[in-house]
Amino acid sequence: MKNMTEFEPRNAFEHIDKLAYEIGPRLAGTRGERAASEYIKGEFERYGLKTQVQEFRFVSRSAKLKVTSVLFAAVFIAVALLPPEFSIVAWLGALGLWRMLEKVMPKHSSQNIIATLKAQKPEKRVAVTAHYDSAQCLVNYKVHLVVKLMFLPLLAVNSIILTLHSLELIPAWPMVWVGLALVFLPVCAGMFAGGYGRKVSPGANDNASGVAVTLEVARVLSESPPENTELKFITFGAEEQGMIGAKNLASKKLLPPDTVVLNLDTVGVGSQAYIVEGNGILRKTRTSHLANRALAESIRQSGLEPRFMWAPV
Ligand SMILES: [Zn+2]
Repeated sequence: MKNMTEFEPRNAFEHIDKLAYEIGPRLAGTRGERAASEYIKGEFERYGLKTQVQEFRFVSRSAKLKVTSVLFAAVFIAVALLPPEFSIVAWLGALGLWRMLEKVMPKHSSQNIIATLKAQKPEKRVAVTAHYDSAQCLVNYKVHLVVKLMFLPLLAVNSIILTLHSLELIPAWPMVWVGLALVFLPVCAGMFAGGYGRKVSPGANDNASGVAVTLEVARVLSESPPENTELKFITFGAEEQGMIGAKNLASKKLLPPDTVVLNLDTVGVGSQAYIVEGNGILRKTRTSHLANRALAESIRQSGLEPRFMWAPV
């Protein structure tokens, strides 16, 4: 008889079949995502794991793209038409409105599934995580980042133009803004159109593959638990909407700070395995150097080539 405590690739492929082909696209907030979460919960419970569902609500990325682009375009036109001395107020007002709108925009529901394998004397804590929602073909703007990156420079440009205007060093105020609008409004239009992505993906690789590995690892370890190690297996909803599920989990402080987190994403293709060293343009957020080295070693042992990468955003 086959050793049940070994990772069985066939089981992982069956999970991918179920998630990507039977259930299909799992866009956050849709029936597909809900069906996937029920399947994952059922599997965790079948392995005898204590399983909880963490519900949360979120504004979709496509709605954010549309609202943000319209608001930016509107403030641009308003600044061109208003008397120059109102321009700074118009920008600040738009930012305030943008923050407020996000609170009142229609929200969708999603959920994280959290399974726990308790240890008698937990000395180490490990969490294996993966998102189970799938992507939509939207323009890949990180809306908050776009607003942050565009707002302050635009405010600075506005202040410079205002100063030059008061010194009578530039032509008529509206003309300057019409010139800037020729550059800027197409960006807004692109962002708006980007919010209308209709195509959805079955997400076999991104990220039924990561979930399938998480489930199979959960099955194996629930049958032969490692000593003194508390294990959590977490699948996130609404990752493709801006890592909403993961942020929600972090905000509830459900993981003690000494937990080692192994997040699996798109593990299904190629002969290389990428290890994310950190993210952010300023390179402030780093993953554990020690864990990365250990991971690289076990990737090498399994016959794959480890590659390190930095995710800019
Ligand atoms: Zn992904």
